[in-house]
Amino acid sequence: MAQGRVAIVTGGTRGIGRAISTMLQDAGYKVAAIYHGNEDAARSLSEETGISCYKFDVSDFSECETAVAAIVEDLGPIEILVNNAGITRDSTLHKMTPEDWRSVIETDLGSCFNMCRVVINSMRERGFGRIVNIGSINGQAGQYGQVNYAAAKSGIHGFTKALAQEGAGKGITVNAIAPGYVDTDMVRSVPEPVLQKIIARIPVGRLGKAEDIARGVLFMVADEADFLTGSTLSINGGQHMY
Ligand code: NDP
Repeated sequence: MAQGRVAIVTGGTRGIGRAISTMLQDAGYKVAAIYHGNEDAARSLSEETGISCYKFDVSDFSECETAVAAIVEDLGPIEILVNNAGITRDSTLHKMTPEDWRSVIETDLGSCFNMCRVVINSMRERGFGRIVNIGSINGQAGQYGQVNYAAAKSGIHGFTKALAQEGAGKGITVNAIAPGYVDTDMVRSVPEPVLQKIIARIPVGRLGKAEDIARGVLFMVADEADFLTGSTLSINGGQHMY
């Protein structure tokens, strides 16, 4: 019964999020794709697919409250939430600024609290909800130069398991996906020699595609997936078997 269920995808206009948004729409969900600053990506998604795009900062609780109220008004109550928005601000700890720490924690992890907090009561009242949080292989394994990102993504996995316990009696499932290296703008910003070394460590011999991750989300949000909760699905080409 995907037909008509309303799904929010944060960071839903580019990269992995764009693939999630379009795959959910193709499956019959009504999608609201959230972005923060890249107007071109949002315009192209909306022109090509008709998906509604909303601009706000998922690291800001009051912006989330206001924007989600507007989405509910436009599309209806939120039954699916995909917390996918994320940023990196890489450097080793001895050079990392408090701002680089805070912005990654607040955008990548704080956003999960903000968005879940804003939709959870309506999901509880309706007795149905599907939440998928996008973590990372680097939250599972750690990564040089990413204490902020690894801490935020690792936190997502604990957050997922705790909220899954709270939602279980209310028809709300909460799961996570830990992608490996996926060919998006985020990974294209990695210097080429470093990227080649990363690819050499991926057993299937290639970067992931955004659709590889989106397929996992589609599986997790299905009505039939009501026995799947509190789990983390690693989709990483065999790079890290957790
Ligand atoms: P991209 O950098 O390609 O896209 C990020 C998206 O998040 C954009 O839509 C961006 O909006 C949005 N966004 C960023 N900050 C905010 C904010 N404060 N408020 C609202 N929206 C925001 O990322 P990817 O597609 O590569 O990654 C998606 C998720 O997957 C992230 O959580 C990332 O950490 C995770 N991941 C990615 C991996 C990879 O290899 N690519 C590997 C493992 C995990 P805008 O376009 O307006 O900037």
